[in-house]
Amino acid sequence: MRILVADDEMGVIAAYRLCLEKGKDSGENALNAMSDALFGDADKAPAETPLNAVTSWGDVDYVHQGEEAVAAVKAAVEAGIPYGVLFLDMRMPPGMDGKETARQVRALDPDINIVIVTGYSDHSPLEVASVAGPQDKLYYLAKPFETDEIQTLASSLSAKWRMESDLKTAHAEIARKFAELEEAQVEIQASEARCRHIALHDQLTRLPNRVFFQNHLNDALNNRQQEVAILFIDLDRFKLVNDTLGHGAGDELVCELSGRLARALPSEGLVARLGGDEFGVVLFGEAGEKAAEIAEELIKLCNMPFEILGSKVQVGASIGLASRGASNCVGSELLRRADLALYAAKEQGRNCLKIFTPCMDESARKRSEIDTKLRAALENDLLTLAYQPIVDPSTNLPMGYEALLRWHDEELGMVSPSLFVPIAEETGLILALGEWVVATAIAECATWPSGVVSINLSTRHFQSPSLVEFICSQTAKHGLSHNRIQLEITETALFDDTALAAKILIELRERGIRIALDDFGTGYSSLVNLKDFEIDCIKIDQSFVATLGSDRQSSAIVNAVTSLARTLGLRVVAEGVESEMQVQALRLVGCELMQGYFYCAPVAPAELPYDFDVEQAKMVFKASRAA
Ligand code: C2E
Ligand code: CA
Ligand code: CA
Repeated sequence: MRILVADDEMGVIAAYRLCLEKGKDSGENALNAMSDALFGDADKAPAETPLNAVTSWGDVDYVHQGEEAVAAVKAAVEAGIPYGVLFLDMRMPPGMDGKETARQVRALDPDINIVIVTGYSDHSPLEVASVAGPQDKLYYLAKPFETDEIQTLASSLSAKWRMESDLKTAHAEIARKFAELEEAQVEIQASEARCRHIALHDQLTRLPNRVFFQNHLNDALNNRQQEVAILFIDLDRFKLVNDTLGHGAGDELVCELSGRLARALPSEGLVARLGGDEFGVVLFGEAGEKAAEIAEELIKLCNMPFEILGSKVQVGASIGLASRGASNCVGSELLRRADLALYAAKEQGRNCLKIFTPCMDESARKRSEIDTKLRAALENDLLTLAYQPIVDPSTNLPMGYEALLRWHDEELGMVSPSLFVPIAEETGLILALGEWVVATAIAECATWPSGVVSINLSTRHFQSPSLVEFICSQTAKHGLSHNRIQLEITETALFDDTALAAKILIELRERGIRIALDDFGTGYSSLVNLKDFEIDCIKIDQSFVATLGSDRQSSAIVNAVTSLARTLGLRVVAEGVESEMQVQALRLVGCELMQGYFYCAPVAPAELPYDFDVEQAKMVFKASRAA
């Protein structure tokens, strides 16, 4: 700590020197010495204290004019070695007086302790304080001073200055730490916000996710004044995009579509991605017809082609709509209703809007009734299989028989598999049901002298890991050769997961089991795609056969399918053949196998119109024998 003395009288400077130079010491007992000097034993006269024991300051500089004092303080501050104490004379003619000097010094150094040393009282302490305060850094000493007065002041102010300087450093450190903490807090808040955002948003599209959607819906429903409607949107043919163009294309499609939906909604609307190709919309303040209009608009938007990875892609959308309306239902109920409406839209043939009606609840109730009863029927062995011959028209002889499920319920009567199979697929019962069909068909076929049994497999059953093993266990049990089994699968089974399908098909074919592609033409596959799969036979869907004579397109499709199938080495079965005319037309285009009421409706095995001719060792058509 340094001291500056400013006094114009050489004699006074000399006195200072005497006091300050002798006592100059930076020893570590300085503080003790100071406190001794300040608060110590009254008997211990300061004069008796050895000078070098009470001091704790460093260099002392002497100047004679106010201007010099200001310059010295400025230089010291700039050099980073400021003075701790300034002993300042009040009158230093011809230059500035002490008050002005103090003012300028204070402006340069807010920490310096200024001791006003004066023999006159021309400036009151208050006046000086007003320009060179604060009060606690201003001291007054009357001239002439005593040596020990100067020493005590120098010593105690040195200690005070050092403490204040330490305190200031500590304050600065605290402020720095505080700023650091504040920065860290801001960062934590930001990352918390990021986490919240991630938890509530879909990573791919940045749209709100299911949780956000439900929270938002509940918030909207809390406002009793406003109408609320929700839409469930499900893309049609999205899987096809994924399978044919890859998942990158699927992702891009979803992103593009998200943008379209978000832009099309009214400002109060919210769109969320609920899952793969499922979106949810909350419409706040809209309901009924207005909401339906918006939904129809969204369907149009989804129908517009997308440019994905250089290809034009077109998808469709099915939408289910439910409004709170007068029902005032809670969020979960509204979600359930929108889901039912979406289900109805898909049932209806997709790419359309369905608005929830109470009948949908009825059909949902019906579905659940069928599920319950079907489970019981399976458990109690109340199901049977009917068989329909697949006939070679040139000989009228069957190459095989398609097994078709039959269920007669006491209350419901005959229930069509077209009704209960989709329900079983939904509930998962299809696996147990499918195993029953496979086991029964193999057991019954094993009692026939010849002919192939053609078994319908649902996609879920086809994809189940135990399928091949299960079939083999049943054929082994009944001693049936694998080449007497044909499995009918649909295009969905192939294109739902192409890699898995290819693998399963190879395993089946290796064991000699045949594969037929059912309902061909109703899905989205082209024959060209089929060459990648191990398939033996194509069954042309009955809708084409039915319109063969009347619809040119049907004839063209049947024609094209038959000739392409033949080049690929696949057999073709025409389904739903009901008339002589259809038989002629089909034979003309080279279709070699037929199935339909014209030959025989599905019947119980005992009623099949064939007998086993022992001599010829083949099945003989009863009707032709009778003829
Ligand atoms: P599918 O596989 O296309 O079966 C052919 C359907 O056409 C059968 O209906 C059959 O009775 C009917 N049919 C046969 N000949 C004619 C005809 O000349 N004209 C008309 N209009 N129809 C004819 P069914 O038995 O009602 O079966 C309906 C669908 O249920 C089947 O369609 C199949 O998809 C499914 N299904 C039936 N049994 C099973 C099964 O055991 N497992 C699985 N997964 N699905 C089955
Ligand atoms: Ca003077
Ligand atoms: Ca079939």
